[in-house]
Amino acid sequence: MKPNTNLLARLARQAGHIVAAGLLALLSACATHGPPGLEIDRSQQAKSQNSRVEFIVLHYTSTGNHASLQILTEQNVSSHYLITDEKRPKVYQLVDESRRAWHAGVSQWFGRTDMNAGSIGVEIVNPGGSGQNWAPYSPAQIETLIALLHDISQRHQIKPYNIVGHSDIAPQRKIDPGPRFPWKQLADAGIGRWYDQAAVDGFLRQFQKTGLPDILSIQTDLERLGYTTPKNGLLDHATKNVVAAFQMHYRPSCYDGVPDAETIAILKALK
Ligand SMILES: [Zn+2]
Repeated sequence: MKPNTNLLARLARQAGHIVAAGLLALLSACATHGPPGLEIDRSQQAKSQNSRVEFIVLHYTSTGNHASLQILTEQNVSSHYLITDEKRPKVYQLVDESRRAWHAGVSQWFGRTDMNAGSIGVEIVNPGGSGQNWAPYSPAQIETLIALLHDISQRHQIKPYNIVGHSDIAPQRKIDPGPRFPWKQLADAGIGRWYDQAAVDGFLRQFQKTGLPDILSIQTDLERLGYTTPKNGLLDHATKNVVAAFQMHYRPSCYDGVPDAETIAILKALK
């Protein structure tokens, strides 16, 4: 009985007004928002619609709580959410989910370029690192992040493969959230894309017989999985950056950008 849903919604809205603001609100419940003199009827809702948000992009701030908050609120960069590294991490929402935050910069995923337009950005306070020295994320931060990501991805129906790191969408210039970011732990909690180990083992056995696939095949798989990569058959600097970004996400024990057998097997196993 579809027609009744609008009536019920209207009644529920009116009831909400009563609870929220008392009798005066009920008297003005017929008023609609819009330009003066123009009445907009919002009682009907289209069946065919979905969220504009398709991606979640994860970052580390590379600075502390205070500086991160200051930068993300006052400078020409922002994110929807900021998770601090306090003992009990605090979650700030700095930009409404319906609005763009400025966190992705020049980036691309599955060919989409304006990533700020269709994504929610989450910054996590973590100093980052270099070489062998990378600061870990605290278990409390990851627990908080997982709860937040469950909520966001359910509300916006985000596909697992569209939950990405900044380095995934900008491999030529970004390395956050870095090799210490626990993508596997997120996957175990039902967040993001992961691979089947049995499939990886199968590819490893296959490579022992056939040798490793060529670079063009690797580039084609990277592109299939969303990465923007050269398609020239050469293991050039740009391609190595893309392979390194892939490794930081799926095989962080070594992210030197060299497509070894395990890296390629994971690449082939991923769907
Ligand atoms: Zn970033």
